[in-house]
Amino acid sequence: MDIINTLEDLRAARKNMTGSVGLVPTMGFLHAGHISLVKRAVSECENVIVSVFVNPTQFSPTEDFASYPRDLERDAALVQEAGANLVWAPTDQVMYPSEYQTYVSVEEITKVLEGAMRPTHFRGVTTVVAKLFNAVRPDKAYFGQKDAQQVAVLSRMVRDLNFDLEMVICPIVREKDGLALSSRNTYLDKSERQSALVLSRSLRKARTAFLSGERETEKIRKSMEEVFAAEPAARVQYISIADPSSLKEIERIESQALVSMAVYVGKTRLIDNTILGMADPNLDGFDH
Ligand code: AMP
Repeated sequence: MDIINTLEDLRAARKNMTGSVGLVPTMGFLHAGHISLVKRAVSECENVIVSVFVNPTQFSPTEDFASYPRDLERDAALVQEAGANLVWAPTDQVMYPSEYQTYVSVEEITKVLEGAMRPTHFRGVTTVVAKLFNAVRPDKAYFGQKDAQQVAVLSRMVRDLNFDLEMVICPIVREKDGLALSSRNTYLDKSERQSALVLSRSLRKARTAFLSGERETEKIRKSMEEVFAAEPAARVQYISIADPSSLKEIERIESQALVSMAVYVGKTRLIDNTILGMADPNLDGFDH
């Protein structure tokens, strides 16, 4: 398996590929969540390219771009083991050459939730993913439901800009105790790691309420707030119960609702979500 950095090498490798091409965009420091995307791509595509790029334009100046964990050698070994063909790890200079000035921006659905808390985040995400799509020209692109708004925003971009590819959305991979895998979990100390279980616990509470017939989102939200009240080490930034594609808040659930949240545990900002009205075996399948 090759690791390449330049656009020229990527284009040459892409030209030599016959059959379908799957792309798995990542920021590296891969864990089992990322690898589940790679394995799904390997099972569905003849060629799989994994991009590893910590994208500066999606971090605000106060966020963790500089300290974001990086380990390309380990990433490459994991990607190889999962059966992909190629790691593309461009430099900042390759992606954003000097005097760079072109951005892709999806409008309404980037103004809420993560976008409201991180106003420049999605412009960076859509720009870098559009660039990855243009460079790789994949038949299928693989993303995790972990970043639910990212899924909604990128699906909109693909439709609006006529990208000729299929978006494949993969379920959230969790630790045995429910914590959603994230590269940022490495920031948590032992006691924060324990406190972080409050996110998945509150999502399970929401699912239980929904499954027992509750449809008023105010009531579901209240039951989640009770879970957080018992875990003072966690500070909720937002809890949203919204339509999964428009991301508009809803009062009464007719079919499905995306329950999503951002929570600080110590200095670490964690996100998690579930879709009510859709099976979520990784959340429903254990007790805690
Ligand atoms: P990142 O490196 O954080 O940008 O993530 C790269 C891709 O992996 C994104 O599509 C994420 O949604 C996905 N991903 C991250 N964590 C998980 C997880 N725990 N389960 C499933 N997919 C994930």
